Order: sequence, then structure tokens, then C-alpha cells
Amino acid sequence: MKALFPKNLITCWDQAITRSAGIVLATHVNPDGDAVGAMTGLGLFLRQQGYRVTCICPSPYPGFLEFLDNGKNVLVFSHQKEEVLRAVDEANMLVAVDVSGLLRMEELGDVLSESRAFKVLMDHHIDPVMEDFDLVFSTPQVSSSCELIFRLLSAWKPKAVFSKEQATAFLTGIITDTNQFANSVYAETFNAASLLHRWGADSETIFSQVYQNFTLNRMHLMGYALRNIRVLPEYGAAYIVLTRDVLEAFDYRNGDTESFVNFPLAIKGIHISALFLQKEDHIKVSLRSKGAIAVNGIARQFFNGGGHYNASAGKMEDAPEKIEELLKEALGTIIA
Ligand code: 5GP
Ligand code: MN
Repeated sequence: MKALFPKNLITCWDQAITRSAGIVLATHVNPDGDAVGAMTGLGLFLRQQGYRVTCICPSPYPGFLEFLDNGKNVLVFSHQKEEVLRAVDEANMLVAVDVSGLLRMEELGDVLSESRAFKVLMDHHIDPVMEDFDLVFSTPQVSSSCELIFRLLSAWKPKAVFSKEQATAFLTGIITDTNQFANSVYAETFNAASLLHRWGADSETIFSQVYQNFTLNRMHLMGYALRNIRVLPEYGAAYIVLTRDVLEAFDYRNGDTESFVNFPLAIKGIHISALFLQKEDHIKVSLRSKGAIAVNGIARQFFNGGGHYNASAGKMEDAPEKIEELLKEALGTIIA
């Protein structure tokens, strides 16, 4: 595989980790397949190298990712505060994965920023928050954090043997972040996927756990979402709104709306899609686009968020009735 990072950065990492007794790995709120795959895969690899590692999510991961945490070792900050605070207190190295800065870990980010441990970032988002970390491995020129970390570990320990569990974890993030190899794929992405397959990555398990593991309620919620796509032809855009009433009617569970934001992009002539998910005190906004249309600018400017060129997110505080007006205003700035 092509080197992603210069040798001196890998030497820094090697020197820092050699001094580390306790290592904490942490990722973003509402962790997805890439976040959990990257964290658990890296955790398993570092444990295999003899390190003491604790993995922490700020909020629970969806049930369809449980297969990545067989031993139920991942701590969830919102539910296990004491254990998390103890692990952070005992750690002298913190590694943040699949986030550009500590802010996206919400309250857990505050805890980590107060720690005096050596802080490392491994991520693929644009604009890493350099001042949050002592050492940064970050480039958007990869499919996922899983690809980045697998390539980084391969460069760090060229003779390492990856286990089936580690390979499966890393392949999960590559598959989910690329939307099954549909976007953000580079030549090296297929190369990494091929190598992970050779290490025994179990793609059948990944597909059956991630994509064929739904409740009937979730399928019906999908039906509702599809029937209620609203099209804005003048902007080449379409969007879906799921209010709390609707979510409750379908017995919504964390992760049930995963990938819904992609549905409108399947419509001919639609290049931008949005999903509005009403939470307790705000509306979560997900944005996707095709090709040369960037959505991270409007995520930043209108929805207090950010993200990748074609996949971004943020939130809005207004009532659901304001959605279309705000979306049109935002779209007006990118569609001439
Ligand atoms: P999703 O719609 O899947 O929740 O998020 C899409 C992408 O947007 C994520 O991969 C992440 O890069 C980015 N993102 C999500 N939420 C936020 C946020 O609150 N702030 C920023 N800056 N980026 C976000
Ligand atoms: Mn990711």
C-alpha cells in the first residue's frame, strides 16, 4: 500500500506509544460503522501488541454494530461516566478516531481536553483541529478512518499479522463510509479492502449485520420516508422530514434512519438530498450531494455543522415548519 504519512510522523507515534501505559481510544457522538470499526479494530491491534486499551463512545452505538464489540468492552460515556473518568484518568495516551476535533465528542470532549495525556488524532475529515492534539494523522484522501488506520498500522508494523476480527472491523468502516463502495473510493481503497479480505475479513457477516438486520418497524419507517420525499425541482433537491411523532409511531431505535438520506439521490435529476430528524431539543440535519456540488459549506453556514464535500450534517433549532424555508435559503446559495 502507498504510504499515507511521512516516516518521521510514524517515528513520533512509535516513540509516544512505547512510553504509554494506558491508552484511551475515543470517537464521535452517534458513532457509525467507521467510528466503531476504527476504534475497535485499532483497540484489538494495540492489545495484540501488549498495550492496555480502553475504547469509549460518547453516546451508544446502534445495535447493528454490536458484532464489532463482542466482549461488550466499549464504554459509553453517557451511561458509564465513572468507568470512563477512571480510564481517562489512568491513561497517558488518548487517540481520537473519526473526528476532526474534540468538540464532536460533546461532553466527553471536555473531559479529554482536560487530560494531560499525549493526544493523537487519526481521522479523514477536512480541517482537523490541530490545537486539540499533539500528533495528527489526518487526510481526506482516503475512504474512511478505517482505511487510514489500517494503512497507518501497516506502515508502523510492516510484519504485523492482522486477526480476522481486526480485519472485519476495518472493512466495516470502509464499506459503510463509502456507502458500499459507491462514493469516496480511491484505488488504494480497493487495495486495502483486498488486503483485509486476505487477513480474513468476514464481509458476509458485515453485510448481514449491517444491512440485513432490521426490525419490521424500521422497514415500515423506511416505507414512510420513501412515500414522504419532498422534491424541490428548481434546486435539483429533495428531502425527508421525520418528526418525533412519526418516529415514535414506528418505535424508532438509534440507527434506524441510517442511510435514509441517500434515498432521494436515487431520483432522476436530484443531486442534493437532506434528511431532517427531529430530536428532543433540535432537528438533526443530514446533507448529501452528487459530483461537483458541495454541501459542507451550507452545513457550516446554515446548520452549525460541517463534514465532507458530498456528505455533511448539522442541526437546526427552529420548528419543523421552518425546514423548507431554511433549506431553500441554503440551496439558493449553492444553486445558481
Ligand atoms: P451524518 O449525516 O451521517 O450524520 O453525517 C455526515 C458527515 O457529516 C459525517 O461523516 C461528519 O463528517 C459530518 N458531521 C456530522 N455531524 C457534524 C457536526 O455536528 N459538525 C461537523 N462539523 N460535522 C458533522
Ligand atoms: Mn468516517
